[in-house]
Amino acid sequence: MPYAIDETHDPSLKSWVESANDPKSDFPIQNLPYVNYMGKDEDPANPLADGFVGPLGVVIGDQILDVNRLLDEGLLETVEEVATNSEDSDICYWLHAVEGLANAPLAFRKELRNQLSTILKSDSSIDRDLVSKLLTPVTDCVFHEPSIGDYTDFYASLYHATNVGSMFRPDNPLLPNYKHIPIGYHGRASSIVASGTSIKRPVGQQAPSEEGGSPAFGPCKLLDYEMEMGVIVGRGNDLGEPISIVEAEDHMLGMCILNDWSARDLQKWEYVPLGPFLAKNFASTVSPYIVTMEALAPFRCPAMERDAGDPQPLPYMDSDANRKAGGFDIMVEVHLSSAKMREQGIEPVHLSTGNFKDMYWTLAQMLTHHTVNGCNLQPGDLLGSGTISGTTRDARGSMLELTWDGDPFAEPPVVVPGTQRTPIVLPTGEERKFIADGDEVIMKAYCEREGFRRIGFGECRGIIEPARTL
Ligand code: MN
Repeated sequence: MPYAIDETHDPSLKSWVESANDPKSDFPIQNLPYVNYMGKDEDPANPLADGFVGPLGVVIGDQILDVNRLLDEGLLETVEEVATNSEDSDICYWLHAVEGLANAPLAFRKELRNQLSTILKSDSSIDRDLVSKLLTPVTDCVFHEPSIGDYTDFYASLYHATNVGSMFRPDNPLLPNYKHIPIGYHGRASSIVASGTSIKRPVGQQAPSEEGGSPAFGPCKLLDYEMEMGVIVGRGNDLGEPISIVEAEDHMLGMCILNDWSARDLQKWEYVPLGPFLAKNFASTVSPYIVTMEALAPFRCPAMERDAGDPQPLPYMDSDANRKAGGFDIMVEVHLSSAKMREQGIEPVHLSTGNFKDMYWTLAQMLTHHTVNGCNLQPGDLLGSGTISGTTRDARGSMLELTWDGDPFAEPPVVVPGTQRTPIVLPTGEERKFIADGDEVIMKAYCEREGFRRIGFGECRGIIEPARTL
């Protein structure tokens, strides 16, 4: 594993930025996630006006530190040294934005983290008055999603795949390829939006109500979310040159929360034979905080252990390091508030809690498999994990699963047709089987481990607006 636990993870480290020391903060000095941001009063239409510097920031407590201005002030000398020693040095580009940093070598990223930790720790000898001027409160900023080149979404949770498969094929929920290949499809990068962007309910074709009938056309009736984690690809690979499982982790920059909004009725009608298309590409929401692979080092865990009867992954997707530490122990939560709940000042309700360690395939296996045919990944590409579900009802990462009455993991398994559902009742008495207009879906993720400081991914939010009028 290229990412080791070091002094930047020391749980006793505190920051002179006091808000970072609040035990409830997602962003203590041990985290240091990167964001693309801009002050609320800056004109996003004309970013080159008025001495524009890159939007790359690092989050500490409730503040964002301007990484480019640190460079201008000469406070990143050791980082500049590492850059100078690397053969394709391009420090201004690397520090320009999250997608620039994705191009930087591992040694550069590591030194940047070290240096930021040194600048921000409570016993730092740095000129605090100067650095304080480079901080902006998170509440005064707007975030921009990283500029994502290509987007691929996987289907790596065996529990999610089994739940969904059981709805339509109770006797045979998993297709024969599932335990051999990380299943995925190519999505659209153009419709990936930052947390907080509202999403218009999609319009499209829906399956005929009876076999042989004509499809319906109109606003989606079965709108859903999918709780996923995304990995931002770091350095890419040349076309024709696969990334081996041993090197896979070197090609990851960091992770964010991903909501893969899904129109289930559109999906049901269109997915055979080529998989998801318009049911998925109308919008996907990402959280703006890119938590680095370095920050996640203390929260690694073994890859999910396969049942004795399961096939082992082919050698190109297998390694000792991946078996021992290919997984990530990341708690993921989904919350929902309806428009009525917000009007009445009612807090969002908790829908589910899952864990990323329950994924059947690791990120390294997904990345390796993606390139085994020679496909080239590029810096700043996004790979989605697929919906994160567990074996219990409250660990299901989509409404499709959450309100479904079947349970293939119960003893004995509860087999019901795909449409038998019990709605979720909100505190206002409103009922939900899927997502209604005005609903806000809020996803959170965080890592906790005895002996380490808790770190979080912030939030990934989106409100559904009514469909356009036809
Ligand atoms: Mn998905």
